[in-house]
Amino acid sequence: RIVYVNGAYKRYAEAAIHAEDRGFQFADAVYEVMEVRGGRLVDATRHLARLNRSLGALSISAPMSNGALLHIVGEVVRRNRVRDGLVYLQVTRGAGPRNFSFPGLEIFPTLVVLARSQRLGWADELAEHGIAVKTMPDNRWGRSDIKTVMLLPAVLAKDAAHSAGAHEAWFVDQSGAITEGASSNAWIVTPGGVLVTRPLDPRILPGVTRATVKDVAAAEGLKLEERAFTLAEAIGAREAFVTSATNTVMPVVSIDARQVGDGRPGPVVRRLRSRFHELAEISIV
Ligand code: PLP
Repeated sequence: RIVYVNGAYKRYAEAAIHAEDRGFQFADAVYEVMEVRGGRLVDATRHLARLNRSLGALSISAPMSNGALLHIVGEVVRRNRVRDGLVYLQVTRGAGPRNFSFPGLEIFPTLVVLARSQRLGWADELAEHGIAVKTMPDNRWGRSDIKTVMLLPAVLAKDAAHSAGAHEAWFVDQSGAITEGASSNAWIVTPGGVLVTRPLDPRILPGVTRATVKDVAAAEGLKLEERAFTLAEAIGAREAFVTSATNTVMPVVSIDARQVGDGRPGPVVRRLRSRFHELAEISIV
């Protein structure tokens, strides 16, 4: 396998990051995960826009233009012969003598791009039955809208969910509202058939899949309310699901071991999932 690191395409065994990279020392870094389908990128424009937003929020300089970045992403996809899978892209502030405050202009951002194959259909099989989620207090920092690699609360939450036999963790804020999943945005369908997802705020990541699912919902003529919802409302919902680039639209059939609806993926989530790739931007790289 080949990975791009700072200007060169390397074999995994030969690829290396500086020992004083700020991504390694401070999690001073942002990332993106994009779906590759049939050798093409899904929603690349939105992913690059969010990458630039994350970089801007942390005053990390963009390593290169979007066009150059897309060229590298395409090369990594081709060199690894990925038809279906994902691209992982990370930008750190760079390497320099360890110091909390930002170094000066002498620092150059570190860029890593890798791609991995994943069998097409694995998520469809999971979506047939849907997943269980477990809730836990949202103990992350106050800027979850920036896609940083500072993921330890999400790692611990996901592990606790797995230990409880669930597939994803849902974070709950101090008011009792669901913020989002450990690596997904959270949605419900009310008994009246209205889609509900939390509005964008600093507590959640502006999901690319969330944005595209809003387009799909509009195309399907579904009513959407962007507002916070509680655990109680989610358990009483007709359907629930999560969205992320790796899973697209994934039905949630139980929350804290309590069944949602009839405990099976419902018609709205099935429809959104089946139409997702018709409406997402698909680009050749
Ligand atoms: N929320 C969090 C915390 C995430 O980590 C992710 C994806 O990894 C998402 C939401 C979904 O975002 P996207 O649809 O852009 O993959």
